[in-house]
Amino acid sequence: MAPPPPPARLPRSLPEARLLASEFWQAFTHAPRALRLAWQTSPRLLLGLLVWTLLMGALPSAIAWVGHGLVDSVVAAQRGGDRTAAIRWVGLELALVLTLLVAQRWQLLCQSLLRAQLGHTVHVHIFEKALTLSLPQFEDSQTYDLLTRARREASTRPLGLITKLLNVLQNAVSLLGFSALLMTLSPWAVLALALAGLPAFLAEARFSGEAFRLFRYRAPETRMQMYLETLMAREDSAKEVKVFQFGPRLLQRYRDIYLQVYEEDRALTWRRHRWGLALAILATLVLYGAFAWLALQTSAGKLTLGAMTAGLLAFKQGQQAFGALLQAIGGLYEDNLYISTLFELLDLPADPEPGDASTGPDPQDGLRFEEVAFTYPGADAPALAGISLHLKPGQTLALVGANGSGKTTLIKLLARLYQPTAGRILLDGRDLQQWQPAALRLRIGVIFQDFLRYQFLAGENVGVGDDRHYDDEVRWQQAADRAAAHETLAGLPQGYRTQLGKWFDGGRELSGGQWQRVALARALMRTDAQILVLDEPTSAMDAAAEVEIFDRLQDQAAGRMSILISHRFSTVRRADYIAVLDGGRVVERGSHVELLAADGTYARLFEQQAQGYR
Ligand code: ADP
Repeated sequence: MAPPPPPARLPRSLPEARLLASEFWQAFTHAPRALRLAWQTSPRLLLGLLVWTLLMGALPSAIAWVGHGLVDSVVAAQRGGDRTAAIRWVGLELALVLTLLVAQRWQLLCQSLLRAQLGHTVHVHIFEKALTLSLPQFEDSQTYDLLTRARREASTRPLGLITKLLNVLQNAVSLLGFSALLMTLSPWAVLALALAGLPAFLAEARFSGEAFRLFRYRAPETRMQMYLETLMAREDSAKEVKVFQFGPRLLQRYRDIYLQVYEEDRALTWRRHRWGLALAILATLVLYGAFAWLALQTSAGKLTLGAMTAGLLAFKQGQQAFGALLQAIGGLYEDNLYISTLFELLDLPADPEPGDASTGPDPQDGLRFEEVAFTYPGADAPALAGISLHLKPGQTLALVGANGSGKTTLIKLLARLYQPTAGRILLDGRDLQQWQPAALRLRIGVIFQDFLRYQFLAGENVGVGDDRHYDDEVRWQQAADRAAAHETLAGLPQGYRTQLGKWFDGGRELSGGQWQRVALARALMRTDAQILVLDEPTSAMDAAAEVEIFDRLQDQAAGRMSILISHRFSTVRRADYIAVLDGGRVVERGSHVELLAADGTYARLFEQQAQGYR
């Protein structure tokens, strides 16, 4: 777990202030990449935003300058000068104010359109990345944290960063304008303007950094909270939560996490509030000092009334612009830190899936495990060790063993979801690592014990088994027929076009055994698959259904290798070859008859099960 965040302090010493200065530049680190992202999303919207923003930056000081002209022309008219001049100034000001209004509206429009588009682009990038992550990466809690954090902030932060960049630009342009105006009065006025705003910025940068560190350090709690939400509010967990009366405990845990998180937030919010208030008071004092100076200068006749009006306005709005600029930089800093999560995720190295072979040198060799060992990342003991097996085309291998003996791990390696830590697996005489992943996966039809029950159409639930024929109704039926699922699916209210699951309107739920047939049909979609791997495919079916299914499978097995995991010896004994696993090793191997004759673990397990039936 990450260490708790350091206690917050404002910079006291010079080195610390220097550190802050370098943190200041960090606020812009990811700006180019965020801009590129926005540019790719919509160059027109980005350019539009830029133009309106520049206009909005330039207009306020121009309006103040017009005010200067207006007041002076009125004073001059009172003294007998040209009266129409004042009206011309008013007209000019009206034009500028109207332009500002239009710019503001257009800026908002561009922003909301870009928000939607950019949020979508970023989500698509995140999911594209997620689809390329390897299984070990998914199972790594840090990568998972990264994914969760990136997703949570994906729709707001990138636009936030860009809006704040533009805010910085807009207020910087305004400030330049106001400073130019104030310079005509006194350089000291410009300096006072700057000094009043600086402490507020330093505080802002510090607190945003702290908020981010808090957010990052707390990711596991937030993830637990999201998980608890899922448990309490989803149909697939409702059954168990109810029968175990587990709900109140879940809710209490949810509350506890909130309280802990709130406590930390509260402390930070309070510190932020105190500093913010003190610095705002300081800024106001400086502002009124400047007002007093302007009033004195004008009373003494050193400034015209128009200059004083413009000066007051420039000071007031200049300080606001300065505040807004600093706040934008503070926010930028925060968005930048959050967005670093997104870019960290997008930059994760893709799973190195080398290999470009789509055939092997010796198709008759079938499948070979050579001294294969595997240890899960982070585990201390190997899940598999010294596994050597050979399966020829047309043969069936059954894996037998207690829970946790490594059967599923073995087929995960075969499906190349993990890489062996030692040894190699060969298909048609070629190491799996040298195969092109797509070509390899087409050759293997796998159905895992914890297969997914998609809330899609019944036919689609079969179709996912082969993306090339995802929508092919004829193939759905053929596969379902091979898995003895056709009658069930055809008998649904809209046949294969019936929505399954309960999440969407008109959804039908299937029984565990029926779902298993659908899953089996899914694996059988790949008619050209050379290897069929079935992890307890009939565990939820009745004995008659199981016999029927294996008879059908055997009829179609011609030339195909099958690997089967099952705890039922009625199924296992049909296999040509049986491997008994224990603690990640093959302890016995042979046919049913041979293994019974050997009178070892297999014979003992068989006898135990047989007794149960007597
Ligand atoms: P079986 O299929 O024979 O019941 P598995 O192959 O699923 O057994 O598990 C073998 C061993 O590997 C077990 O000790 C299990 O705890 C461990 N294991 C399984 N899956 C994972 C995983 N994703 N990460 C870490 N360890 C795992």
